[in-house]
Amino acid sequence: MSKVLVYHKSKDLKEFLVDFFKKEGEYSPTFVSSIRRLRSSLKNNHFDALLIDASLIDADLKKEDISIPKIALISENIPHGLKEVVSCNIDCYLIAPFYPEDLQLKLKTVIERKSWFKRLYSEKKDLEAIVELTYLISSTLDPREILYFIVKKLSEMIEVTRCSILSIGFGDKRYAYVVSSFEDPSIRNIKLDLKKYPEIREALKTRKPVIINDALKHPLMKPVLRFIMPLGIKSIVVIPIIHRDEIIGTLFLRTSRVKNGFNEREIRLCNAVANVSANSLYNAFMFEKLENEKARLEKLAITDYLTGIYNIRYFYHRLEEEFSRAQRYGYPLCCIMLDIDHFKKINDKYGHRVGDLVLREFAQLIRRHTRRSDVFARYGGEEFILLLPQTSLDGAEKEAKRLSAFVREHRFKIIGNEKITTSMGIACWPVHKVENPDDLITLADNALFKAKNKGRDRIEISSTKR
Ligand code: GH3
Ligand code: MG
Ligand code: MG
Repeated sequence: MSKVLVYHKSKDLKEFLVDFFKKEGEYSPTFVSSIRRLRSSLKNNHFDALLIDASLIDADLKKEDISIPKIALISENIPHGLKEVVSCNIDCYLIAPFYPEDLQLKLKTVIERKSWFKRLYSEKKDLEAIVELTYLISSTLDPREILYFIVKKLSEMIEVTRCSILSIGFGDKRYAYVVSSFEDPSIRNIKLDLKKYPEIREALKTRKPVIINDALKHPLMKPVLRFIMPLGIKSIVVIPIIHRDEIIGTLFLRTSRVKNGFNEREIRLCNAVANVSANSLYNAFMFEKLENEKARLEKLAITDYLTGIYNIRYFYHRLEEEFSRAQRYGYPLCCIMLDIDHFKKINDKYGHRVGDLVLREFAQLIRRHTRRSDVFARYGGEEFILLLPQTSLDGAEKEAKRLSAFVREHRFKIIGNEKITTSMGIACWPVHKVENPDDLITLADNALFKAKNKGRDRIEISSTKR
């Protein structure tokens, strides 16, 4: 039913209109007779058309910014009325005597034309948005940025509480990941257990959009009512995003507004957006896979395969770095060389394989007790090396004693709770005669040799003073 506002003065005209609306039945009229009430009605209600008694057109009315279609009714002083009508930007007019059929036709025409324009306008805006999105997509390389543009643009055009793009793993379809969400651009990879999202499961199963206008009454949502109730969710739209025949994600919109769910135009827009998102989502997925693989390979390249700590290659790289930093800023730099005592006996008694496990446990034990800024690596065999940036000789000696005690106390399950000991050698720049990074290792190694010779399970400090 269309709502019509009537601004009237003459009694005859009011009688005609009351009669007209009573017979028509498809309009709901509101009568006002003062400019003040006209203003407040226009401000507080949405009307589809305004009927104006032409004799009320004056300077005040002409100043009003009325955006709904206007029909003037001229019943007296016709030449003057016509002049006023023309100057007041009226959509159409009727001249007395008035005929219901005539008014009916004119009302129908102006209201239809208005809604037609409105639709054209919103379709034009949607098309512009899609064009803008395709433009953005081709101008940015980062797929995550693109996905954020997409949800942001969409949420500007559709009134929603939540608007996200989810990615569905290629293998495991039990979970979805929020890759982009308009509420927060930093949101990444939040894991959703699809057990709690029957609407997403339905979209994956049917490969079709799922539109739920009243989530609290929809049978699909019954099993999860207690989760969605506190969130105040009213309507939900899930649109599958399909890339090369495979569903790789979904567009996921939720709203808590009270008015009737999502309309046809909004669903059409979502479908179009889901289509343009497919490539970006796929690229984001591949990008992430590549990044993970890169990170994995990088880690592998600096890790000792047996013990899981840094390898010697990485140690040398850090030693060079820390040595030049120490020289530049005058920080002390210490190196501790560690060697397990009588390790050969463990191999002989339990076998090489068990020996390997002891090495691993030993390495992890030391790693757990060292600072993140220290570099602990396997030097080779059962020998290890620890670099302590910005640490004085005194500090390094204390650290060595602490670690040596940890080892002495530790029981290795794999060899029947037996204990082991270590010998350590320490060298320090600038206390010792260290000219280059290699010297630091050599002096620590010499000190270690001394510790071994002096009977093992002890710490020796390099004696090569500058
Ligand atoms: P010391 O107290 O003088 O250091 O005695 P040691 O037995 O620990 O030293 P030695 O240099 O005589 O022998 C080192 C042993 O460590 C011999 C070698 O088989 C063993 N070893 C070296 N690398 C590995 C490894 O990766 N796994 C195992 N299981 N054993 C290793
Ligand atoms: Mg040894
Ligand atoms: Mg050794």
